[in-house]
Amino acid sequence: MGAGTGAATVDVAVIGAGAAGMMCAATAGRRGRRVVLIDHATKLAEKIRISGGGRCNFTNRDAGPANFLSANPNFCRSALARYTSQDFIDLVTRHRIAWHEKHRGQLFCDESSEEIIRMLRAETDAAGVQWRMPCSVTAIAPQADTPGFLVTTSSGPIHAARVVVATGGLPIPQIGATDFGLKIARQFGLKIIEPRPALVPLTFDAAAWKPFVPLAGVALEVDIRTGEGKKAPRFREDLLFTHRGLSGPAVLQISSFWEPNTPITIDLAPGLDLAAALLDAKPGNRQQVGTVLSGLLPRRLAEQWLVAHAGLWPGLATQRLADVPDKTLRALAGSLSAWSVVPSGTEGYKKAEVMRGGVDTRGLDQQTMEAKTVPGLHFIGETVDVTGWLGGYNFQWAWASGVAAGQAV
Ligand SMILES: Cc1cc2nc3c(=O)[nH]c(=O)nc-3n(C[C@H](O)[C@H](O)[C@H](O)COP(=O)(O)OP(=O)(O)OC[C@H]3O[C@@H](n4cnc5c(N)ncnc54)[C@H](O)[C@@H]3O)c2cc1C
Repeated sequence: MGAGTGAATVDVAVIGAGAAGMMCAATAGRRGRRVVLIDHATKLAEKIRISGGGRCNFTNRDAGPANFLSANPNFCRSALARYTSQDFIDLVTRHRIAWHEKHRGQLFCDESSEEIIRMLRAETDAAGVQWRMPCSVTAIAPQADTPGFLVTTSSGPIHAARVVVATGGLPIPQIGATDFGLKIARQFGLKIIEPRPALVPLTFDAAAWKPFVPLAGVALEVDIRTGEGKKAPRFREDLLFTHRGLSGPAVLQISSFWEPNTPITIDLAPGLDLAAALLDAKPGNRQQVGTVLSGLLPRRLAEQWLVAHAGLWPGLATQRLADVPDKTLRALAGSLSAWSVVPSGTEGYKKAEVMRGGVDTRGLDQQTMEAKTVPGLHFIGETVDVTGWLGGYNFQWAWASGVAAGQAV
């Protein structure tokens, strides 16, 4: 970096050395740009490190615009088409990182997410990127006399012709997440889509949840949906009962779509016509309802379900199946195959995997991620209002938006 007026001078300052920031810096550096990459953390890319249970679900083979939520759903199309999951697979393969497909196109490292961090670090080094880390950015201001920005940092000022904001979303503040990206967007007059936790466990009012607390630890595959109509989001994934509510991939997926004070509907016996199964088994059946139900569902769920609904159907668990009215069996089956519950909230940013909302993409150029009203200022990654489903999509957005900006700056 040249010293000039006492401040360093670069072509590009990338703020945030996470998934999107490192990808962007490496791409711009390879194009011959003088790039500085700034991060306030002491440890590099903590979110990549903890991702995918330590193995980083680094992309999804089938990633496409349909796997993302945004107030402007077409925005992500261009970047995702120009840098695909296959492009990232090629990069990982070039770095001899072994990986495997878990399910539904989700790709994980065989060994450790550290390998992805090392790969990105090596890419930035090969591209000649300069680092400032740990280093805090205290202000970004347009330069008075020339185009570009003055970036004020804890290790001195930097003149940058272009600034890329890649500071991520609000989840997991304990490892350095901040609202910096949103603040800078607001400072420069960009609109924000209200952020909120997504891919997050759902919680329930303690009194209402009490009957289900004994189910904590029970996991099973379910169908889950929220909202109305044929296009209402729906997933078939595993659900996990917790002490405070519901978690597991099914619930994380639906949480991104869930609107407060509305129900989610869960089929706890997907692919099975529970009413027909009970009615078919009924004639002459002297077994207790609890026993029959335990043959159709996980035993703990079947038993506790009847306990939880004892007020509605007193003594049903121990009644002989043959003696139970059809109407009651149909109602019991309905309670399990269309269990409708209204969460009271979520576990919040401490437990969320991503932030929904962020910088309104209608203010950004979809090819370059540049703010339409602030030439030279770009936003990438999770700070932007593009939120992926669970399954490697969020990293694919980080890579693709990073490359899009890196090619333009
Ligand atoms: C527990 C967990 C598991 C996850 N697992 C997966 C997964 O397996 N697959 C997947 O696709 N997605 C996963 N995600 C989501 C994924 O990690 C993020 O979507 C992705 O990291 C976003 O990339 P980013 O570069 O925008 O932000 P980040 O990777 O969060 O990087 C932002 C960087 O900016 C820095 N920063 C923040 N504020 C400032 C500031 N004021 N000044 C300087 N630097 C700053 C931070 O220190 C950080 O290094 C997971 C998330 C969590 C929380």
